[in-house]
Amino acid sequence: MKTAIRGALLTFRRDPLLAGVEAGMYYESDGVVVIEAGGVAAVGPATLLSGLGADVAVTHYPEHLILPGFIDCHVHYPQTEMIAAYGEQLIDWLNHYTFVTEQAFADKSHAAEVAEVFLAEQLRHGVTSSAVFCTVHPDSVDALFEAAERRQMRLLAGKVCMDQYAPAELLDNAERAYAESKALIERWHRRGRAEYAITPRFAPTSSVAQLEALGALAAEYPDMAIQSHLAETPGEIAWVKSLHPDCPHYTAVYQRYGLLRPRAVYGHGVHLADEELQLLYDSGASLAHCPSSNAFLGSGRFDLRRARAVPRPVRVGLATDLGAGTSFSMLQTMRSAYEAAQTHGVALSAPQAFYLATRGSAEALGIADKVGSIEVGLEADLVVLNLRSTPLIDFRMRYVRDIEEALFVQMILGDDRAVAATYVAGQLQPAAGLAG
Ligand SMILES: [Zn+2]
Repeated sequence: MKTAIRGALLTFRRDPLLAGVEAGMYYESDGVVVIEAGGVAAVGPATLLSGLGADVAVTHYPEHLILPGFIDCHVHYPQTEMIAAYGEQLIDWLNHYTFVTEQAFADKSHAAEVAEVFLAEQLRHGVTSSAVFCTVHPDSVDALFEAAERRQMRLLAGKVCMDQYAPAELLDNAERAYAESKALIERWHRRGRAEYAITPRFAPTSSVAQLEALGALAAEYPDMAIQSHLAETPGEIAWVKSLHPDCPHYTAVYQRYGLLRPRAVYGHGVHLADEELQLLYDSGASLAHCPSSNAFLGSGRFDLRRARAVPRPVRVGLATDLGAGTSFSMLQTMRSAYEAAQTHGVALSAPQAFYLATRGSAEALGIADKVGSIEVGLEADLVVLNLRSTPLIDFRMRYVRDIEEALFVQMILGDDRAVAATYVAGQLQPAAGLAG
């Protein structure tokens, strides 16, 4: 059975920074998406409607903008309950808040409760796919994938592996990290829309033996995603240098253990040398730009223009990194990315920001052949934005001259109130309250 939604429509075919806005962005002021069997069957101007049968139900969203669902390429669901934790920078924040909170996920019923809140909040914010860190407990992964399966969400997730420099309750070891990850892979990888991601927390909390074990696991699954953290703060970089004095830099640690390749997505990368950016590019690995988290923890400001510079443009997606990130909203995260770019003397354009939050994240995660754009054959994960969601935005929109200016207003002033509807695999999601 076909259905269709009609409204202004925007999607990206390529990075507008590299390809130019004309070639990178596709916009229809009155467009239509035809949905069939959870996928996009047709997309184009609303004149397509005349070729559809009279039995096709059309939902019309005037004054709204249809986009691909937002994709958050780096986020920690266990930290939902500790978002907005006061007063610390990275390492102390981990020790004082994160490593305390994550211990509660030994209890699967707690994990399941938080997973429900987390996914409901994501959908309420128009986030249809994400790459998610769980905790060291395999049950925490089961709880999240079970909740995502009920919603048919395309989700990447993995058990955090760490065997040093954290409380004993949160440590596994090399053998357990390998065996528990492998059992989860066999249970969940490519079951429906679930995909496993091999997940060392970051280099300091994994022993050499554990990094070797996860490298061996990665070699067994050469096209599987990997997620971790890289070069978030100067103190962390010095720590990694002391732990791995024979590696020329932080990025080389992941390379040495076989964890740098396409679909390996590293959060942050705020403080990288040119040779590390070159290595990321050469390996095909990606960075998750987490601007609100970097600002919140005082970690530094990522230089997107430098990371994407030709001739070695590193793949970059956009991410909340909640709970160090301060919002589920990808609009608010775009605003933070704009502010981070400004500190480097560069203006992040609205098309570039919306690309990062949709197709850019999909490309970073290696799922752009499934989601991240509105194209025939892709899955119908969509978000519908109300372009006049608050009195101030409504007033401001009277003075907007074109779509790029309208997009910029949304990313600076918009939040969850702008999300009028979210579709997952073609299904309109119920408007969710807390834990809905
Ligand atoms: Zn993170």
